[in-house]
Amino acid sequence: MDVVVTVPRLPAPGETLAGGSVHQVPGGKGANQAVAARRLGAPTVLVGAVGADGFGTVLSGFLDGERIDTAWVRSERGPSGTALITVVDGGENTVIVVAGANAAVSPARVTDAAIRPSDVVLLQGEIPAETNESAARAARAAGATTILNLAPFRAPSRELLAAVDVLVVNETEFAQLVGLGVGGGGAAPGIEELLRSGDRLAAPDGAPLGDVVVTLGADGALARIGGEVLVVPGRRVPVVDTTGAGDCFCGALGASLAMGLAPAEALERANAAAGLAVGRFGAGPSMPTEAEVAEALS
Ligand code: ATP
Repeated sequence: MDVVVTVPRLPAPGETLAGGSVHQVPGGKGANQAVAARRLGAPTVLVGAVGADGFGTVLSGFLDGERIDTAWVRSERGPSGTALITVVDGGENTVIVVAGANAAVSPARVTDAAIRPSDVVLLQGEIPAETNESAARAARAAGATTILNLAPFRAPSRELLAAVDVLVVNETEFAQLVGLGVGGGGAAPGIEELLRSGDRLAAPDGAPLGDVVVTLGADGALARIGGEVLVVPGRRVPVVDTTGAGDCFCGALGASLAMGLAPAEALERANAAAGLAVGRFGAGPSMPTEAEVAEALS
């Protein structure tokens, strides 16, 4: 659950400050990505956990309302995963994330899940690293396609990289992944050059990288899929709130690949979907529908 408070400025240590508005918005990377995939028309199963608190009840209700299969979402003792977000009028924000029940999504939970060869398994960094490893292994064994969104960034093990089909990172995460100072604004030419460098593209420990998608905010995305570099130009759209843009991109990419679209088309669709999500407030609720994305692409 994202608890979002607006403030005129950030409080000093020990200071009590009157906030403006407060909103509780369903969020969390796994849930956001599942909502994006489902709204784009893909039957979606979420494997995860909510806490035994009021947030857990609201989050489960939200997911059910989205027609996401929550049979694998367990209620765990303790708090739900929670993000406390302070938004200063005019832009700057601070975020504190508490893993809560997400930390209880253990490897055993995932290997039990029935994965079919036609499935896309979408993983992200808000559950334990060993759970992602076991999920990627199970997906590979089942013949499914695995997408790993390396956010929040955590250096992936060689084993995880070897079991994943597509990595999705933003500019900063890409810089961390390859161990180079290519992050920050206007870094696209450096990133494109690196993606075109073929076999030389590797993690700092030398582990080779397979297919990679780098999202570039308003500048769209760059990808290297099957050795081919794809450029997805950014869409000129009105921006209300970019929270969840990356999650929308990942969910839409997963849904589009699961529906059998070619990588270039799937990336266009993900870029269009994320471009619509930034035009609305919040994360989960801001995800666009299949019809909205079709219209944006027409
Ligand atoms: P966030 O942390 O805000 O969810 P992120 O850092 O993971 O985002 P970004 O690269 O900022 O990811 O954005 C993901 C995608 O969202 C972009 O590839 C693009 O398709 C879309 N997007 C983001 N910001 C904009 C924008 N200002 N205009 C148009 N599209 C945008």
